[in-house]
Amino acid sequence: MLKTSGIHHITAMVNDAQRNIDFYAGVLGLRLVKKTINFDRPEVYHLYFGNESGEPGSVITFFPWQKQLKGRIGTGQVGVTGYIIPTNSMEFWENRLQKFGVKVETSVRFGEKYLKFNDPDGLQIELTERNEGPTNNWSFGEVDSEVAIKGFGGATLNSAQPNKTANLLENILGFGSIGQDEGYLRFRSEAQLGNTIDIKLLPSVRGLMGAGTVHHIAWRAKDEEEHHKWRALLEEKGYHPTEILDRNYFKALYFHEEGGILFEIATDPPGFTVDEPLEKIGEKFMLPSWLESKRDELESALPSVKARVLKGEDL
Ligand code: ZN
Repeated sequence: MLKTSGIHHITAMVNDAQRNIDFYAGVLGLRLVKKTINFDRPEVYHLYFGNESGEPGSVITFFPWQKQLKGRIGTGQVGVTGYIIPTNSMEFWENRLQKFGVKVETSVRFGEKYLKFNDPDGLQIELTERNEGPTNNWSFGEVDSEVAIKGFGGATLNSAQPNKTANLLENILGFGSIGQDEGYLRFRSEAQLGNTIDIKLLPSVRGLMGAGTVHHIAWRAKDEEEHHKWRALLEEKGYHPTEILDRNYFKALYFHEEGGILFEIATDPPGFTVDEPLEKIGEKFMLPSWLESKRDELESALPSVKARVLKGEDL
């Protein structure tokens, strides 16, 4: 049976590109691992943040577009994006977020404590301490590898049909069922990062796509051969996957699940070093070969942005 090892990446929409970089790199200390454009809409940036190498299971990506209306988080979307931090680092993160004027709360589910907050566009983020997951050797500003976010712990899904989404996770995508707590069903996969998915059972308002909401969640396929098998399996099970698209850093296919959430399956290879060396990823504005001839035109239409170390002022 095919099994995904877990989350490949999560993609969300925001308004301002520099504010987005300031939060995910400047405050959270993630590495900006790729600065490119939305291949389907080249007038919009596509920014990728992850651990040192931008490993699958650590990558959050954004389409920043200033004119986009604000969305609403609700059913048919990923609700909360969860990261894991090293044990004994939660106090550091609580202090750091407060230093930047970010309001934090804590909650507990499945016996784990979560530090919860919103990013500047209203996306819901949580941090939890776990032993598992490789140390992230990327240091940025005051965030060093002792406290650095390792990657995703998981995500919570606001499904319009929780039981159908649960069935898809368990019986098609290959997650194991863990149980129920605090109104959530929990599922786990085998990867070290991005392995824990919680489905919210209580209904929430209907989600509206827009700035401050997650656009889709991508699951891992280990290579192109497996990717084709996933596509065939999804069709056999009655889903309507798109054709396989070349996203330069991975191959992608998309489908809607019954609960209204846009799912993607993405290949692990080739990753972010396909067009830049590991020491330099994220520094330059990168384009796929088929858009390289339009570089000047595309680059001049976008604001100039970069990852920068922030002091303790409010965002
Ligand atoms: Zn994607």
